[in-house]
Amino acid sequence: MYLKRLEIQGFKSFANKIEMNFEQGFTAVVGPNGSGKSNISDSIRWVLGEQSAKSLRGSKMEDIIFAGTAKRKALGMAEVSLTLDNSTKMFPLDYNEITITRRVYRSGESEYFLNKSSCRLKDIREMLMDTGIGKDGYSIIGQGRIDEILSSKSEDKRQVFEEAVGIVKYKTRKEESEKKLQNTTENLDRVKDILSELE
Ligand code: ATP
Repeated sequence: MYLKRLEIQGFKSFANKIEMNFEQGFTAVVGPNGSGKSNISDSIRWVLGEQSAKSLRGSKMEDIIFAGTAKRKALGMAEVSLTLDNSTKMFPLDYNEITITRRVYRSGESEYFLNKSSCRLKDIREMLMDTGIGKDGYSIIGQGRIDEILSSKSEDKRQVFEEAVGIVKYKTRKEESEKKLQNTTENLDRVKDILSELE
């Protein structure tokens, strides 16, 4: 699995549509200060479901939409598509390429797509769980993240290792099942109360 393509339009400094094709192996993005290198990695984290404007270096999610310049007016929408190679079938989908798309409008409305079909953020999160690629995955190490991992609490460090060994999916499913079980137990108690009142 590797990143194959990144398409950005209206995201931060990228007003015009740009397309970057990555080859297998090592890719370096170089450029002068302020030219948008970090905006590229921000766009990858964003398309993978990042919900925190602060971690994308903004104060609100609208800040990720191209805000305009002296020569060009602001845009109303940002869209990023990330294509992942799936020839090894790392993701349980019958496609050799998987394209994740996220779109946001100034109104705050947000949309997600998997191979151009509309989907929920939950679907994307579940697909990426335990691959290390998700927004909290260890495959995106931002500036200061290593220090953060080294100095963080042992429970936080554990999360990084759990993602690496591939058990986050099962932990999440277990938590969901426990929640359902608790709701069912509460409902059952309520039914028992009603039944005893009727008797
Ligand atoms: P450095 O090497 O200094 O870390 P960089 O190449 O990583 O720089 P970025 O931080 O990615 O640069 O890009 C910063 C630029 O992006 C700034 O010029 C900033 O004005 C621009 N920018 C950020 N958000 C927006 C936005 N919403 N609309 C337009 N431009 C934006």
